[in-house]
Amino acid sequence: MPAAPDTVLRVALPVPLPRLFDYLPPPGASASSADAGRRIRVPFGQREAVGIVAGCGPAGVDADGLRQALAYLDDAPLLAGELLESMRWLARYTHAPPGEVLATALPAALRRGEPAPDTREPAWRLTEAGATALPGMREGRPRQLATLLAGGVRHEDVLDGLLPGWRPAARTLAGRGLAEPVALPSRQLAGEARPGPVPNQEQAEAIQAIRSAEGFTPFLLDGVTGSGKTEVYLHAIAACLARGRQALVLVPEIGLTPQLLGRFRARLGVPVHVSHSGLGDGERARTWAAALRGEARVVVGTRSAVFTPLPEAGLIVIDEEHDGSYKQQDGFRYHARDFALVRARALDVPIVLGSATPSLESLHNARSGRYTCLRLSRRAGSGRPPRVRVLDVRKRPLEAGLSRDMLEAVERALGAGGQVLVFRNRRGYAPVLLCHDCGWSAACPRCSSPEQSRPMTVHAQGRRLQCHHCGHRRPSPPACPDCAGLGLQPQGIGTERLEELLAARFGDYPVLRIDRGSTRRRDALEKLLAGLGDQAGILVGTQMLAKGHDLAGLTLVAVVGIDEGLFSADFRAPEKLAQLLIQVAGRAGRAERAGEVLLQTHHPDHPLLETLINGGYHAFAETELAQRQAAGFPPFAHLAMLRAEAKHADPPMAFLHAARRALGDWQERLSGINPAAADVEANGPMPPPMARRAGHYRAQLLFSAPGRAPLHAALNELVPALYALPEARRVRWSLDVDPVDLY
Ligand code: ADP
Ligand code: ZN
Ligand code: ZN
Repeated sequence: MPAAPDTVLRVALPVPLPRLFDYLPPPGASASSADAGRRIRVPFGQREAVGIVAGCGPAGVDADGLRQALAYLDDAPLLAGELLESMRWLARYTHAPPGEVLATALPAALRRGEPAPDTREPAWRLTEAGATALPGMREGRPRQLATLLAGGVRHEDVLDGLLPGWRPAARTLAGRGLAEPVALPSRQLAGEARPGPVPNQEQAEAIQAIRSAEGFTPFLLDGVTGSGKTEVYLHAIAACLARGRQALVLVPEIGLTPQLLGRFRARLGVPVHVSHSGLGDGERARTWAAALRGEARVVVGTRSAVFTPLPEAGLIVIDEEHDGSYKQQDGFRYHARDFALVRARALDVPIVLGSATPSLESLHNARSGRYTCLRLSRRAGSGRPPRVRVLDVRKRPLEAGLSRDMLEAVERALGAGGQVLVFRNRRGYAPVLLCHDCGWSAACPRCSSPEQSRPMTVHAQGRRLQCHHCGHRRPSPPACPDCAGLGLQPQGIGTERLEELLAARFGDYPVLRIDRGSTRRRDALEKLLAGLGDQAGILVGTQMLAKGHDLAGLTLVAVVGIDEGLFSADFRAPEKLAQLLIQVAGRAGRAERAGEVLLQTHHPDHPLLETLINGGYHAFAETELAQRQAAGFPPFAHLAMLRAEAKHADPPMAFLHAARRALGDWQERLSGINPAAADVEANGPMPPPMARRAGHYRAQLLFSAPGRAPLHAALNELVPALYALPEARRVRWSLDVDPVDLY
């Protein structure tokens, strides 16, 4: 029997359903596999929706009821080739609805159905008549302009620089048919590429290794803070550009600073396209489209820039590859670093993962030979590594949350004209508002349950309360709601209060607070730091200050209040804390002056601190990897977390119990057929430590397996079944493959 002709389009629509939707082709069009990746407008229920053609196929048995698509939005596919294939892989790997996954590859404006933006820019050129007339033209502006244009088409903004006031002359020439406006691909005008410092031996070896890599080659660039990793990226990117290829650079959310962009632009001498969440939709769509058309040669962006089309790819760089912001934590949960590796393989290009504190996953991959490890063991230039000391504060009086030794060290550093960073990873004024008369404390009504109270953080010198989990805010009560007493007092110290206390204690010096509260605007941090300049002063901050900004005057880093991180239940907590401490410590001693790091703790003998301080990050990582292996945690096991939430506590648990039974049924069916199925373990269901959040009770079921294959075999079976469970209708659920946060 001949195969039925392809007559229907399979369309991915951005809805939370694990399927594609069949449509007849729009009027006048036929279904062809060449249409995959084109945006299409279709009727959907009572409304219209913008979808992406995922493929085509023969009509099914129910073809009679098929609706016809309305129109294609583009002449050629927007999602094509490698990016389309990689997105399909990502949909399979995450077990997420295909329509939501494909839509994620497009910037929001294109997802909504707006036309792909024009990335061309206005320019002028001489007509043939103009070229003929030029020798006979009178002196003056029009002739000057015609002479410039005789040398080639010029973008308007180039003309602004070359011949200020050129516009009337252009109108004159155009009026006589001697010149005409045209639109050219976005400007490829090269600035001047400025040379950087001469690479040292280790840098030169790393650069050479990356430049000579052919095809897919993953590198781990493992270099201490200030060792010149960015220099290595710049050389590798320059080489990639010289070969006529595109480079994609991913940086963490707080790493994408004007400083960094300025350095890239100056050093590479080509336009650098940017993509991050602070840009408007239009700007992001322009970067995306410019990359698709091959006009953008270097794209620097945060997490979602991993979906940039790279038709002429040559290199991918992931800076600070360990950073938590690469993992999307809600909605469609993907990991930008991991997906970048998948794309690099599909594109067959080298990829460089750089960090001073590589993730245990990446270290494991380097140890097992999957990644080529490039080490930069010393600071480049004049920077010297800081000295790190632990201050035991047991039984010592604290003032402003700082021990006397710490205060004296701050005083000394300021007296010597240095800058001091006081690191406290806790925003707000105080973590708790407590009634000293009766013990009442302010709890978030949306995140607390009868079993568990969640304190609200005190802000604005005590006037306002805010929940850091759900964002709920309200004014502080004037008196205790329980006993009506007036003994309400903020307990503990957040960055706001630390700022106040330090300003009172060190009145002669400026004290700046740097956290999400004080730097809402993207350039606010730059302005704050510029205001301080190189005078002596104190910066109080959260992990926002841990990287990104060069703080050359910093001579002392004072770390306070890390003790709670030492005893977290999350198996990744030690890794995160170690990375944070090393990154913060790395802020000191960037310039000529030696730096010092003081770490104040009630647990000076804690093994994590001992190993980290005496042996460094790699010693810590070795110990931690051994423990992960013994406990059967990643990277020695593969995880997937099924989460559910609802207004009441029972439905999430009921749903997850049903999911667990479905897994058991599958394993029973496969027993004797596929022994690996029995390797998949389910842990739970159980409520996470934070059992209620933003008004919803939560529960979770953790799947783990020693290998990816059995885990994904189980999920392939399980996930479609989850949609059909009657219990699913009473909850919001989500699956997180390779979860980073287990709670
Ligand atoms: P990282 O990215 O590892 O933190 P950077 O590339 O930002 O390091 O380099 C840290 C500082 O050292 C920068 O000021 C940089 O200009 C300087 N630097 C890097 N490589 C060299 C070198 N080979 N010689 C002199 N200075 C260098
Ligand atoms: Zn009270
Ligand atoms: Zn809350």
